[in-house]
Amino acid sequence: MKKLLILGAGTGGALLSNLMLHKLDMKEWEITIVDKSMEHHYQPGYLFLPFKLYGYEAKSDIVKPIRDPIPSSVKFVQATANLIDHKNKKVETTTGTLEYDWLVLAMGCTIAPGEVDGLADAMGTNAGTFYNLEGALALQPKLENFKEGKLVLHIADMPIKCPVAPIEFVFLADYFFQLKGVRKNIDISYVTPLTGAFTKPVATKVLSSMMAEKQIKLVPNFNIKSVDAEHRTLTSFNGEKVDYGFLVSIPPNVGPEVIEKSGLGDGLGFAVTDSHTLKSKKADFIYVVGDNSNVPTSKAGSVAHFEAEIIAENLIREINGKEPHPDFDGHTNCFIESGFHKAFLIDFNYEVEPVHGSYPWPGVGPMQLLENSHLNHYGKMAFKWVYWNLLLTGHLPGDPLVPIQMSLKGKKLSEITPHGHR
Ligand SMILES: Cc1cc2nc3c(=O)[nH]c(=O)nc-3n(C[C@H](O)[C@H](O)[C@H](O)COP(=O)(O)OP(=O)(O)OC[C@H]3O[C@@H](n4cnc5c(N)ncnc54)[C@H](O)[C@@H]3O)c2cc1C
Repeated sequence: MKKLLILGAGTGGALLSNLMLHKLDMKEWEITIVDKSMEHHYQPGYLFLPFKLYGYEAKSDIVKPIRDPIPSSVKFVQATANLIDHKNKKVETTTGTLEYDWLVLAMGCTIAPGEVDGLADAMGTNAGTFYNLEGALALQPKLENFKEGKLVLHIADMPIKCPVAPIEFVFLADYFFQLKGVRKNIDISYVTPLTGAFTKPVATKVLSSMMAEKQIKLVPNFNIKSVDAEHRTLTSFNGEKVDYGFLVSIPPNVGPEVIEKSGLGDGLGFAVTDSHTLKSKKADFIYVVGDNSNVPTSKAGSVAHFEAEIIAENLIREINGKEPHPDFDGHTNCFIESGFHKAFLIDFNYEVEPVHGSYPWPGVGPMQLLENSHLNHYGKMAFKWVYWNLLLTGHLPGDPLVPIQMSLKGKKLSEITPHGHR
């Protein structure tokens, strides 16, 4: 039997196992998927848990057994991948060695609070994070009991998973404290290493003005050096200081150790990957899907989905002796919750930044890009069902509803100047 081995059974890995099952001749192929965890987390739910909003209150609202979205004819191994011996096409895991003909890396990334001086200490006292399940749940009593003072959200460094999630957090904090009747006693600040609220000019303008409208203070260009939990202060490398009452931290995001140990990484645990074919640039017979890669687009579930569809096609081409196609265009789409049952929607790729327009049908929508609407919010709420039932199982419709490559149709491209600025 020939062997396809997938490391990581999160969004990208689980989807790819479903897609490949239907593309490979299973009389000749065996698909094995390895994960160190026994749980699959719907990570977009981490955003809502701290506020107990929109039906997200407990672990059971976002977690399923890891086996659930994986087809029964795919072999599942619970183990941690420790070393990829790509010369001999073998992977050493905590439960033994696995051989492969083709390997897909889908191990995502995690937070590393220890990378910022003082942050790990602060996390146990007057700071927290919603970038993992434990952190999101631990924030519940902290926010419930926060009645006055300074709530500061800071992003340590880029890249991070879902770069809009921190923006959503401060928008929801504003909404949550208004519902509790304590907003007037609380200052909310958004401290970021970026020059504005987001990375792309048109969206940055829209999101920065929404922050101003909601009286959220934006502190840009803040490269964090240390956190002083005792004095509740953040200090930047320039010597700038920000005081906090309670700190919500997005620590540096790093890929798994095994990537660096195996000589496949960029220094941060992200596998060095061709931006268009999604093949490892360091070794043959390896593809990379989702957050685990270093391709210069957002780390998002939607991206893992578009990439998995392209990798599935490229794997089949290569197995049949053909060249992979450079089809991935960096396509990302995400909803941005803004509180009060409203959200924005953005859709972009490597070349085209998010602009206004209608989605998915030009002029018709019904969803509006970069507009704050109830419909976009209902889209975000529906995404959880879509994730478990259509996305992970490989049943999402393609063009025009969910095109794999970004469509220019319906987008106001006139908003982008030749220099990419408005
Ligand atoms: C707060 C938050 C909000 C988000 N909101 C959105 C959103 O609204 N929309 C959106 O599209 N995306 C969102 N995302 C991002 C999205 O969840 C991720 O981009 C997506 O899950 C990436 O999929 P993946 O397969 O690359 O990694 P993951 O889904 O994280 O899966 C990685 C898997 O690899 C396993 N693993 C790791 N190391 C090893 C190892 N050494 N051996 C074996 N197994 C290993 C892990 O246990 C895990 O199961 C959000 C993320 C966060 C944190």
